Amino acid sequence: PSLLFKLKSISDPSFACIMDNNELGCKRNDALQELEMLTVNAKEAQQLILTKILESNQASEYLSKFMNRSTNTSTFKRNVPVVTYDVVQPYIARISTGEDSSIISGDRIVELLRSSGTSRGEPRLMPAISEDLDRRTYLYSLLMPIMNKYVSGLGEGKAMYLLFVKAETLTNSGIPVRSVLTSYYKSPHFLHRKHDLYNNYTSPDEVILCPDSQQSMYCQLLCGLVERQHVLRLGAVFASAFLRSISFLEQHWCDLVNDIRIGKLNSNVTNTECRLAMEGFLALPNPELADELEEICGHGPWKGILGRLWPNVKYIEAVLTGTMAQYIPMLEFYSGGRIPLVCTMYASSESYFGVNLRPLCKPTDVSYTILPNMAYFEFIPLEDGLRVTDDEEVVGNDKLVSLVDVKVGCYYELVVTTFSGLYRYRVGDVLQVTGFYNRVPQFKFICRRNVILSIDTDKTNEEDLHNSVTRAKKILEDRNHILLEYTSYPDTSTVPGHYVLFWEIKSTCEGVKPLDPQLLESCCISVEESLDYIYRRCRAHDKSVGPLEIRVVEAGAFDALMDLLVSQGSSINQYKTPRCIESGLALKLLNSKVTASFFSPRDPEWTV
Ligand code: AMP
Repeated sequence: PSLLFKLKSISDPSFACIMDNNELGCKRNDALQELEMLTVNAKEAQQLILTKILESNQASEYLSKFMNRSTNTSTFKRNVPVVTYDVVQPYIARISTGEDSSIISGDRIVELLRSSGTSRGEPRLMPAISEDLDRRTYLYSLLMPIMNKYVSGLGEGKAMYLLFVKAETLTNSGIPVRSVLTSYYKSPHFLHRKHDLYNNYTSPDEVILCPDSQQSMYCQLLCGLVERQHVLRLGAVFASAFLRSISFLEQHWCDLVNDIRIGKLNSNVTNTECRLAMEGFLALPNPELADELEEICGHGPWKGILGRLWPNVKYIEAVLTGTMAQYIPMLEFYSGGRIPLVCTMYASSESYFGVNLRPLCKPTDVSYTILPNMAYFEFIPLEDGLRVTDDEEVVGNDKLVSLVDVKVGCYYELVVTTFSGLYRYRVGDVLQVTGFYNRVPQFKFICRRNVILSIDTDKTNEEDLHNSVTRAKKILEDRNHILLEYTSYPDTSTVPGHYVLFWEIKSTCEGVKPLDPQLLESCCISVEESLDYIYRRCRAHDKSVGPLEIRVVEAGAFDALMDLLVSQGSSINQYKTPRCIESGLALKLLNSKVTASFFSPRDPEWTV
């Protein structure tokens, strides 16, 4: 039974049509009418979702501790505490080793979704039930109807969306552990989607499902180039992945053009499913197309190249909010600033959240409208503006504000309660209310609590970075040097981007030899080895993050940094070295004091 089905059972007949799964995807206007109704009735929808979650999960060990099997929503609000992953983790661990899903949910946990970020060094795994796929599909089904309102003719061509799966594993009890997108692309909801004019992708499913991201990227670009005149939309889920693919194209266009010229797929693509799926694209040699592409890629500038390679493209879609905003300038470079950049949705492993109802606005102005049928949403007000509460801080139950009661202009941290067993769980995202659509608030994504470094889907917090640096600096100490100070910076001027650490090092005895490059390289790899699973996967498997760099700065560089930041308004008494550099001036200052730079000599260890 889908969520849609569940909602059908309530007395309010106005919800009935939201529930009819068969309608989804085919009747585009209906989707928008449904959205209208859902947002007008947001309060009722949220109350209903909470009631359904409580009815479904009241017998779970977790909920009955606080609710004594009641399904009363007031009891929930009074008794159930606001929690972070530390509280959820022991339950996930028990399910991983074979205990019944009923300890947290009334439905079977069918997969654990590996979210980015860690809790005390452990990767976070979010429980999911089969019905969650219906919810995700529902959100996806709204995206094209929304776009169609603003851009015409989208049904007359194809989308080159560069989509990738990640490696997955099984728990001891046999539950798949995978990323939420991998779960979706492998699901029947995606693979058996009803084909219509609006989900006509250039990439065959077999190529999207190829576990080798380089081979997948090569084939997906090849399909997009072959179909270049038909491509109306370009995109990827995250801007980082889109740009990495364009940089891959910059490196490999000769091979791609050659394949098109001779009508034969490069032998480096060894994946059998990919080779089979690509046969149709390269059935005959196509020297005319090869000549056109060679002219564009080999003889013209790369600034604005996307519009020349895909002359009919109407927009580029990717997440460009939050940490992805760092990629806007690069995307504007390749698009020549003339192709709209569109952010359509906001989602996570815990739950999908919302959609952008004004998709053609500038990426910096994007607000997401929360869909009140995805989960039960509550908000922790961040009273003094952007001061972000930390994980340890206990948040009183009475502090929480419900979805329809948030106030325009205010900042909040997002809390979700889901069907799959998260109750009043702090997602960690900080949002600002920018307005309302009917009764539903619209939020600007401000930041993810604690995350200081992110290049792709990796999200490194201050504690993880500190622990990694602390481990690596022992290598220095063994060789008569100490690390006096450090900070970091996500360098996205390279593709892929990479983490930069600025280190001020002091020797602890007279006559110590100058820093040996091997020593610093060992420090680089040591930091990487102790960063989390997703970081190491991005580095070693996805190749979406480049080797970590340590830039050694001269003595006194961090004092100069303090002087600068104090001159910019930091309090001298409370000054703490920022563990990540945000201001352009601070970065310029540190870069001007660099005496040497070192990179990781190899990939960090990573196993599925
Ligand atoms: P994960 O659970 O690893 O998929 O990561 C989900 C997190 O990614 C969210 O909680 C946000 O912090 C971030 N995120 C997802 N979508 C967006 C978006 N559209 N804009 C900004 N951040 C996003």
